[in-house]
Amino acid sequence: MGVIVIGAGLSGLAAARTLQRAGREVTVLEQSPEIGGRVKTTEIDGYRIDQGFQVLLTAYQEAAEIWPEDEMDLFPFAAGAVIHGHQTKRVFDPLRHPTTLWATLRSGLCNFHDVKGLLGLRLGLRGIRGLPTKTNDEKAPDFLKRLGFSDQFMNAFFRPFLGGVFLDESLAVPADAVRFVMAMFARGEAALPAQGMAELPTHLAKGLTIECNCKVINVEPKLITLEDGSSRFTEAVVDTRPPDSMNWRSTEMMAFRSPPPVDMTPVLHLADLNDRPDSPVLHACAPSLVAPGYAPPGQGILYATLRTDRKAAHVSEVQETLAAWFEIPQKEIEHLTTISVRHALPNSPCQSTQNPRDRGIYRSGDWMTHASIEGALRSGRIAAEAVLHDLDADQFSAAS
Ligand SMILES: Cc1cc2nc3c(=O)[nH]c(=O)nc-3n(C[C@H](O)[C@H](O)[C@H](O)COP(=O)(O)OP(=O)(O)OC[C@H]3O[C@@H](n4cnc5c(N)ncnc54)[C@H](O)[C@@H]3O)c2cc1C
Repeated sequence: MGVIVIGAGLSGLAAARTLQRAGREVTVLEQSPEIGGRVKTTEIDGYRIDQGFQVLLTAYQEAAEIWPEDEMDLFPFAAGAVIHGHQTKRVFDPLRHPTTLWATLRSGLCNFHDVKGLLGLRLGLRGIRGLPTKTNDEKAPDFLKRLGFSDQFMNAFFRPFLGGVFLDESLAVPADAVRFVMAMFARGEAALPAQGMAELPTHLAKGLTIECNCKVINVEPKLITLEDGSSRFTEAVVDTRPPDSMNWRSTEMMAFRSPPPVDMTPVLHLADLNDRPDSPVLHACAPSLVAPGYAPPGQGILYATLRTDRKAAHVSEVQETLAAWFEIPQKEIEHLTTISVRHALPNSPCQSTQNPRDRGIYRSGDWMTHASIEGALRSGRIAAEAVLHDLDADQFSAAS
């Protein structure tokens, strides 16, 4: 009979992998035609377009076990960011690049208190290796204020950078989520696979039994009903679907083909929201400078993540912004597509533990631990381990 996992996103695939490695028969049922859930890549004329800009942080613990760097072709972004306001400024990690501290201070990007805050934040992150056991109540803006950051630096760096990570410029997320994410950026690298983010689920799915175009409409502890009216008996169910009541953050990204930018540094570009409060773009990058497989040879691709709290942007406004940021003539920046993801990130906690057992069903998904690749993988593994534990206990009691 085996175990059934609902959903071939990262959480479901991680659950299935854990179950299969423990010798269990397992089938993943996925409603859409492809696997990957929120991690997908499409291709237009040889340009790779991830379904919303995302990166793999190589310091994620679960991820590092699943996608070892020696097995995956991972290409890192340069640490730091270019910030576009009335002038162009650069910010670097003060512990990795201590010599840049003085230049950062002199650039007017931040004051003495911001530099102190950056060092304090950075030092405080050193012990953080993964998700905290439990989220505490403090919110990100209070935490950053407590560290002494000025409004000027919040608008120039934290709002565009973390606003892009959390898809919320107001940063209404737990302070723990900021600590976790910043620690992961500090510990490792932000990377892209050679051929797009979809390589991650493809690699994880190897050897698993997955049935696509199978929408589950009813779940009981030992019985699944599909949309086509058929039923499946099962030993246990891992259900990765979030509850209908979940609150979601959304995002919109535009992708453009272009010649390669003048500055070839593979770095994230941010809008300085002090100088450009009405910027249509929150942040942008040229993924083809990071992983060359994102564009045909000699060509470039630009991704622009749009503002989360501004009216919808017109393509030409975004082209104008990218032309200035990447120093490419505007007419050579051609719109490929716009990706809107309404259900991008759930308002999740930020915790390493979860109780997967729910009235005979095992639940997983990033919404239970943390809205990230790491959270999704971890929740899948935890749910699978609970299934294994309970099935082994059942077998033991049947035998005795
Ligand atoms: C635009 C964007 C940017 C992001 N950026 C980052 C980033 O930079 N770094 C990072 O770590 N994380 C990032 N994330 C978050 C990360 O992608 C997610 O946390 C993770 O992919 C969630 O995986 P999941 O398996 O929990 O959920 P999902 O990927 O949503 O998987 C759930 C699966 O269940 C299937 N399903 C639903 N209902 C049914 C049904 N009735 N029957 C059968 N199947 C069903 C769905 O089709 C889907 O495939 C980003 C996400 C988005 C969208």
